[in-house]
Amino acid sequence: MVNLLWLQSGCCGGSTISFLNADQPDILTALEMLGARFVWHPDLSPTMGEEVLEIFDRLKSGKERLDVLMVEGAIYHGPKGTGKYFIFHDRPFKDWILDLAKVAHYTMAIGTCSSFGGIPAASNNPMEATGLQFLHEKKGGLLGPNYTSRSGLPVINIAGCPAHPDWIVETLIALISGKLDSSGLDKYQRPEVFYSKLAHHACPRNEYYEFKASAEEYSQQGCLFENLGCKATQCESDCNERLWLGRTGSCTRGGFPCISCTSPKFPDGFVPFFETEKIGDIPTTLPLDVPKAWYVGISGLAKLACPKRLLVNAVSFKRVDVE
Ligand code: SF4
Ligand code: SF4
Repeated sequence: MVNLLWLQSGCCGGSTISFLNADQPDILTALEMLGARFVWHPDLSPTMGEEVLEIFDRLKSGKERLDVLMVEGAIYHGPKGTGKYFIFHDRPFKDWILDLAKVAHYTMAIGTCSSFGGIPAASNNPMEATGLQFLHEKKGGLLGPNYTSRSGLPVINIAGCPAHPDWIVETLIALISGKLDSSGLDKYQRPEVFYSKLAHHACPRNEYYEFKASAEEYSQQGCLFENLGCKATQCESDCNERLWLGRTGSCTRGGFPCISCTSPKFPDGFVPFFETEKIGDIPTTLPLDVPKAWYVGISGLAKLACPKRLLVNAVSFKRVDVE
């Protein structure tokens, strides 16, 4: 049996809810396929109190194998590095994580908070929050830049606020079946298979984007980049190809701009979320791989060439047929 341990540190629990939405395969089928079980999950296991401490002790001492440590939530180091803002039983929770990470065969950070600090590490970071092995883009975090689990792999970061259920389940399957090594990770230790595309790819508003036919208000059909703050051209994820919630939608399909929640710079690097900052007419949040000069030239031409069909529909709340 493969032993999984899920811990929740500083978080909203959203990635657990997302994990429960897995459907291809669902969680129970995935666990059965993998011969895996949760030795403990704070929301899903009935075990409480002293029995949890006994589980931790068995794992720490090696009496029971810890195959995959899955940590959701940022690590609190405050106040003044003591970790006393979050005490679990008789010691800072960060110290429990340190001990358990030492014996884990694989260690996964589930969600942007445990990957990079996320929302708890935003602004002036009063909780002194970090991720497991990063703080934003800088390597380090709780476990330090050189940490590897017993497998030899660093922390596998499944970023996202929350993480997509497929990103969690498929990574788990790849790890347990020995199909993921360090060559499959990007520079932020995210599995490339999920994070090498942009959230912009396959958005149904792509044609509007190409011609810079932009919505001016929410619920209009045009692209959300130019006026309404969409950061999907800066955001590494496959949200618009993979889709969410039973493969039915995504943020931009629902009319909500992408706020780049898989990025190590989330959230501070992407505020304001719902407006596009500009210098003159040029957005300051240009696509990751597009030089500014090119954007200026091509966007002007694109607007000139924009079909009337798109111009009209971009600012319309429902589809309008244009001759
Ligand atoms: S709304 Fe966002 S994701 Fe969709 S085409 Fe525009 S920039 Fe791309
Ligand atoms: S579309 Fe952007 S904000 Fe929405 S879930 Fe994907 S990465 Fe996060």
